[in-house]
Amino acid sequence: MENYKKIIEDIYLDLKDVEDTGKIADYIPELAFVAPDNLGINITTINKESFGVGDFEKKFSIQSIAKILSLTFAYKLEGEPLWKRVDVEPSGNPFNSLLQLEADLGKPRNPFINSGALVVCDVLLSHLENPKEDFLNFCKEISNNTSLSYNEKVAQSEKSVGFRNVALCNFIKSFGNIKNNVDDVLDFYFHICSLEMNCKELSQIFLYLADDFYTTVKGKRILTMNEAKRINAVMLTCGFYDESGEFAFRVGLPGKSGVGGGIIAIHPDKFCMTVWSPKLNEKGNSYKGMLFLEKFTTKTASSIF
Ligand code: GLU
Repeated sequence: MENYKKIIEDIYLDLKDVEDTGKIADYIPELAFVAPDNLGINITTINKESFGVGDFEKKFSIQSIAKILSLTFAYKLEGEPLWKRVDVEPSGNPFNSLLQLEADLGKPRNPFINSGALVVCDVLLSHLENPKEDFLNFCKEISNNTSLSYNEKVAQSEKSVGFRNVALCNFIKSFGNIKNNVDDVLDFYFHICSLEMNCKELSQIFLYLADDFYTTVKGKRILTMNEAKRINAVMLTCGFYDESGEFAFRVGLPGKSGVGGGIIAIHPDKFCMTVWSPKLNEKGNSYKGMLFLEKFTTKTASSIF
């Protein structure tokens, strides 16, 4: 950890002065109220040493980062048949695109684009009695963090403008790949996206993807090592919308971003790192977040490649 600290602080100070060419996501009205110059970084190693700088303790809307948690829970409950409903291929299209679904007969390309995440929510709905409550409890349990909560304002704000997600969900249902009521799937989806965490909490909750030790919580297994490997693989190939290749090229770690400006990145057997900076590049990924991680893995030689 000691050698990481100085490097993190130096890059943080450098980035403070870099002009941010990104733009805050305002298509969800509630997200537009976030101060654009927030910048937080946190790393947690597999020995549970944690270090943060800047706004690392401020909660923010984790948005699509929550799709890793919903995928994990659905994979745990459904097992391998999950992959009959959602594929594991990069889409090369924007996160909310309807384009490929027609040709692919309603089977989304991967669980991290909106269409795939909606199918994952549908799978969870079929397994859970109280989906919103059960999902939140799952997140609390695996992180040992009882302070986690949805942001109802953000969920309702997204619902009020979520026409594309409504279209996606109905379209997939027309192919028979959504089994539950469309409104229920969407309501669940908007809530999981509204989950709030800070950088420190995020870098702790995802330790189960960095080390086998954390895949068992209170005697219950979250995922097998092989399942964790698969989720990391999907993150590497599909975690950054149609910029996943660019992220692998520049950063070289499995990760996932969200339109709230957060990015988490995993180094298997070493650490989980979170960066939060709300302004997004044209592909929807945090501009400074990507820059930070690129500098970090380059200076510490800690990519997986
Ligand atoms: N809730 C957002 C949406 O559906 C998630 C987008 C994201 O973070 O990728 O548009």
